[in-house]
Amino acid sequence: MTSSRKTEVLQLLRNSGDYVSGQQICETLGISRTAVWKIMNQLKEEGYEIEAGQNKGYRLNGTPDVLSLAELQSRVKTRMAGKELLYFDVIDSTNLEAKRRAEEGAPEGLLIVADKQVAGRGRRGRSWESPAGANIFMTLLLRPSYSADCVSMVTLVMALSVAQAIEEVSKLPVRIKWPNDIVVNKKKVVGILTELTMEADYVQYMVSGVGINVNQTSFPEEISATASSLYLEKGQKVNRALLVQKSMEHFDENYEIFCRTDDMTGLIGAYNTLLVNKEVTVRVLDPRGEYEGIAHGINEKGELIVEKEDGSVENVYAGEVSVRGIYGYV
Ligand code: ATP
Repeated sequence: MTSSRKTEVLQLLRNSGDYVSGQQICETLGISRTAVWKIMNQLKEEGYEIEAGQNKGYRLNGTPDVLSLAELQSRVKTRMAGKELLYFDVIDSTNLEAKRRAEEGAPEGLLIVADKQVAGRGRRGRSWESPAGANIFMTLLLRPSYSADCVSMVTLVMALSVAQAIEEVSKLPVRIKWPNDIVVNKKKVVGILTELTMEADYVQYMVSGVGINVNQTSFPEEISATASSLYLEKGQKVNRALLVQKSMEHFDENYEIFCRTDDMTGLIGAYNTLLVNKEVTVRVLDPRGEYEGIAHGINEKGELIVEKEDGSVENVYAGEVSVRGIYGYV
């Protein structure tokens, strides 16, 4: 199939602005039904929103934003984060690819971006929904000189940076759910998974992977109560390449501040301002025992300060812990 056929189909759909029957497309372009079906599938793969109505034909509801190497490279002009960039239409997981590249000696600042993951993962081996054409899956490779204790804080630096980028680009009321989720209107729109590889007793490299639900229009039932996308919350599509660019710009800036002290000292204010859990009652899902308390924000180590009912204070370390609101996810 030639791309000009694809262009012609798009032109037909655009000019009509409504449903165009399969028959009409076949006749106008002199192609078979199967060819039309294939073109529609390809366009959908690329992110075009094509509605197929029973007995009505096809209607174009939306055109995709472009996520490609050229588009990304022309935008990301940071000092470190994303100074080298690779783009994949499909990948197993951007974290896995970043680790493979790291093993081959790739430098700090390499950013892997993908349109779709077939093996996207969350923390503790859980899966991350990663369909094509709508979202951002990206992983940044870092080669830090600080110790492994500092690594969990980089997740917070990434969460802060992506939250700032989303706020800037979409103007949505974005909040961070400690430690590694970003929520809008109490629903999760971003997940972050930071992983490290040790060599003897130092950090050989680490990868920080980010999944952003950008223009996804619906979610599988299992996660639809807690998951959302920027599009669903705003009612407008958000440009993905711009969001990648802004995330890297904010990370560059925040990471420089982080590296001055190798902790969150310079970022506590900015992080706590965006923290959804600040001064609210949370339930800490600690594998050693769950408890409730009022969260007062993070300390310089990135731990969540939680005051229990008896007045005692816990500094919760992110490692294996999730927090919830007392009435639900947030
Ligand atoms: P929490 O348990 O508080 O949600 P977590 O950090 O432990 O946070 P992650 O590992 O970040 O969770 O994410 C994995 C979980 O997120 C999955 O178990 C699933 O419930 C949910 N999830 C999976 N894919 C998506 C998605 N695309 N958008 C929002 N949520 C998702």
